[in-house]
Amino acid sequence: MIVLDRKKEDLVELFSEEAIQKRIAEIAKQINADYPSDEPMCVICVLKGAVLFACDLIKHIDKETHFEFIKLESYGNSQSSSGEVKSVSMALPNLNSKNVLVVEDIVDTGLTAKFLLDYIQMHFQPKMLKLVALLNKKCARVHDIKVDYYGFEIDNKFVVGYGLDYMGYYRNLPYIGYFPQ
Ligand code: 5GP
Repeated sequence: MIVLDRKKEDLVELFSEEAIQKRIAEIAKQINADYPSDEPMCVICVLKGAVLFACDLIKHIDKETHFEFIKLESYGNSQSSSGEVKSVSMALPNLNSKNVLVVEDIVDTGLTAKFLLDYIQMHFQPKMLKLVALLNKKCARVHDIKVDYYGFEIDNKFVVGYGLDYMGYYRNLPYIGYFPQ
């Protein structure tokens, strides 16, 4: 049995469940206004981290929506990027002429988002392609990437909860926090 060295009781809360849900409704309003009202959307959730965010976000989307999932990995079990993106499952429908929204949990170095956006643009010609991330760690950016929508900007902390894991755990927390040093 794995004994976690960090307990959820030790987490310092950064964003409460209420704050997250309020911000998601605000982002969705912006997305609804920007995407054509009479055309379907394709929302691509990047597993695993974005799953809670994407599921809550799409409830507010007022268009016909395809919900797709892909799985990418760059962190393994550590708290820093391996510098390499592993495509674990990249089964995407045909995105030609589609209005696409990629949903990420957090843009940190920007490697994962860049990998995915480049991949989509290399294989398809979407009509619209935008990126939404719940968290934006601008200070950690290595790859130049445009985050079209984001929930909160954070500084260079390793955050946990609401989809984001610590050693595979704590994704189920409805809030986001960090472990103090
Ligand atoms: P990137 O460095 O490629 O922008 O970030 C890739 C992925 O690393 C994110 O989608 C996320 O799953 C994970 N990640 C980045 N920063 C954090 C963090 O502070 N906490 C957790 N739990 N995962 C993170």
